[in-house]
Amino acid sequence: MIKSNLDLKLLEKCAGCGACYSICPSCVIIPGYDPREVIKDILAGEFDKWLDSKHIWQCLECHYCLEMCYQHYGFENAMTALRTIATKRGKYPPQVKRGWDMFAKSSRLGEPAMPARKKFGLPEPKASGKDEFLKLHELVLKAREAEAKKTGTDRG
Ligand code: SF4
Ligand code: SF4
Repeated sequence: MIKSNLDLKLLEKCAGCGACYSICPSCVIIPGYDPREVIKDILAGEFDKWLDSKHIWQCLECHYCLEMCYQHYGFENAMTALRTIATKRGKYPPQVKRGWDMFAKSSRLGEPAMPARKKFGLPEPKASGKDEFLKLHELVLKAREAEAKKTGTDRG
């Protein structure tokens, strides 16, 4: 499963580099957050032990590591791949689930902070495109359901 989410050849180079450790904000601030350890375990075929770790959810997706990386790969890819696998196995923090549920219902991850927008002279945000999103979401769910029936599998 990990192979379909990651390029292990690039990750091998990453394991011998480690350069972006010093510029990753999560590495600097959070004790124990160390994508080098994660990458080492992925390459050793032992990624499972990170699926329950809070650290895989502490990547800010700030893309610093991608921007700085000579192979334009990055720590971020390892953390994203593990989050994807953890999610498929039903392992995720409750606040993440709340965010997904809200997005699926309203096409927003949160309500705009109107007083703050007013204070900074920002215009009212545009409509969220909720109706179009909900139609699209329904179509995706139906397509998945049809595929699951056809193949006799349930992709969740
Ligand atoms: S995107 Fe990269 S630099 Fe940013 S927090 Fe995640 S691992 Fe660190
Ligand atoms: S992401 Fe790029 S810069 Fe960072 S350790 Fe891996 S190869 Fe080196």
